[in-house]
Amino acid sequence: MTEQLLRAADIVDRLEPQLKRDIDQLRAQHGKGPHLRILYFTDHSPSILFKNAQEKVARRLGITPGTQGCDWGHVTREEVKRVITQWNRDPAVHGIFVHQPLPPQLDAQEISTLIDPQKDVEGIHPQNSARRFFAKARIGSCTALAVMELIDEALRRSGGTLEGKEAVVVGHSEIVGRPVGMLLLDRLATTTVCHVATKALQQHVERADVLVVAVGQPELIKGAWIKPGAVVIDVGINVVGGKVVGDVEFEAARARAAFLTPVPGGVGPVTVMMVMKNTVEAFKLQQKG
Ligand code: NDP
Repeated sequence: MTEQLLRAADIVDRLEPQLKRDIDQLRAQHGKGPHLRILYFTDHSPSILFKNAQEKVARRLGITPGTQGCDWGHVTREEVKRVITQWNRDPAVHGIFVHQPLPPQLDAQEISTLIDPQKDVEGIHPQNSARRFFAKARIGSCTALAVMELIDEALRRSGGTLEGKEAVVVGHSEIVGRPVGMLLLDRLATTTVCHVATKALQQHVERADVLVVAVGQPELIKGAWIKPGAVVIDVGINVVGGKVVGDVEFEAARARAAFLTPVPGGVGPVTVMMVMKNTVEAFKLQQKG
């Protein structure tokens, strides 16, 4: 029987040796390997957990990580600007990743424009977003790339294709929903992007052959809405009663979906791997000059 759960470990186990080989080759060729700098928030537990995961995976792959912690409540735009400018100018730094969400005193759009587009391993600089519009992204949004890896894993197992499928994305944020929508369009899926003002969300979800949910509301999507045989990618991370849950009612969805991601252990670790993949792409771009 085909495995229904799209576990991050399956993707990570496949991608990690390839990426490690790539990094070893680059090190042999250039006498140095990629160096990733991470700006995170010291008093924000999701940021600390994510930073720890990023450091661990980077070290395993042979990417040198460096971190700068900032205080969520007190960090200023000037401080963030100073750190990013210093990393932009440093030729030993190849990738820059600023954790999101940002504290309310910082403007995400402004921060995204500060990062050198060649070092932007989250794919958020307007130059990288614009290239995505023309399906020519050199560095894509890491979460969106992770979602596509998981969809491709489902297609590998089922032998299907995305072309002509009904794809529904719930959530239209700049770092997840919108880039996922663009990547699905690039693959010729008939794509609908739902958001806070969408009327009859249930009806859209019920049509989806491929459903991607990135909202941040526990179990917003009911299992009974899932089209039998659908591929369901749950990006949401919510803590309920000390337990991490997604945006989709997991057990009920499991009874209907052909493939679905667990939360935790689905999209998150694949996103970390995509940050590393993007760091390698950024390194290559910078060696070309
Ligand atoms: P945002 O808060 O930036 O975006 C949430 C989106 O959901 C917005 O577009 C919002 O619309 C929309 N929305 C809100 N309520 C509804 C509703 N009732 N119906 C439909 N759409 C709605 O979050 P992110 O995109 O950054 O993240 C979404 C979730 O994914 C979070 O739980 C986050 O923790 C998680 N995440 C997980 C990652 C991973 O690697 N696993 C990586 C990044 C995020 P509007 O803006 O119009 O209000």
